[in-house]
Amino acid sequence: MPDSAPPSTAPADAQQRRQIPPVLVYPSQTLPDPDLAQLHAARDGAVKVSELRVPPRDGRCWDLAAGQFVRISSIEGPQVGDLNLWAKDDLTERFFSGKTRALHGTHVKVGDRLWSTLPHLRAMATITADSLGWYGTDPDGGRVHDVIGTRCDPYTQHLLGGGDYHHCCHSNLTNAMARHLGKRPAEVELLVHDVLNLFMCTGFTADTGQYFMKASPVRPGDYLEFFAEIDLIAGLSACPGGDCSTGHSSDAAACYPLLVEVFQPADPPIREVPRGDGYNWPASSAS
Ligand SMILES: [Zn+2]
Repeated sequence: MPDSAPPSTAPADAQQRRQIPPVLVYPSQTLPDPDLAQLHAARDGAVKVSELRVPPRDGRCWDLAAGQFVRISSIEGPQVGDLNLWAKDDLTERFFSGKTRALHGTHVKVGDRLWSTLPHLRAMATITADSLGWYGTDPDGGRVHDVIGTRCDPYTQHLLGGGDYHHCCHSNLTNAMARHLGKRPAEVELLVHDVLNLFMCTGFTADTGQYFMKASPVRPGDYLEFFAEIDLIAGLSACPGGDCSTGHSSDAAACYPLLVEVFQPADPPIREVPRGDGYNWPASSAS
């Protein structure tokens, strides 16, 4: 803090002010029911229709039709992945990690939805299975599958450490989306957005409130699955941080591929296509 900063002196009722109980910003009991029983029944009869590998320190995109399930697995060693989602028919509608965090918490779990950006704000996907659900909250306050971090990127790396590193998740997702759409990376870079950090174990330090990471508990065979509520393009980067036990944005960490498997239910669940919350601007704002 600069010396010129004015002093912050606690008022006489400081303790009283601190003891005011918190309230949830977004109580979630009125969210639409994800009907997990219906989804799990559909998953039981689903068959695998495609798979791909995301190479270490690289990214891939794939199409996902409404009604399909996708399983993302660790296969050769502990590895975290950065996930992006776009609505296939309108790439400006994309995963809204900030509002997903506000609605469900800092880390997502089975039954949570992955919400899209305004003005849509609809469920793009529903998380249906998580082999790391047992992890819960560790003694440091760490949890897995965060919607806190944004994605490692070469700009922050340059700002903090100098140099140019070319395999950050931001770059991997940009390059993957460019290949998927047949465009140049510069044409699609702005489509890349804040992520779901699959398998990444993170939290905030108790003393300074800073974002921390620790070695992911993911092991080969672990997976997260979600159900596509709408037609999607998904993007996944196998983060250069590997298990994110020490650092990222370099070639120092051991990195492994991630496996993506898409499953088609024999009897697709009958679900209403999410349409957002139906909010209407006042008439005076329409012109
Ligand atoms: Zn990364």
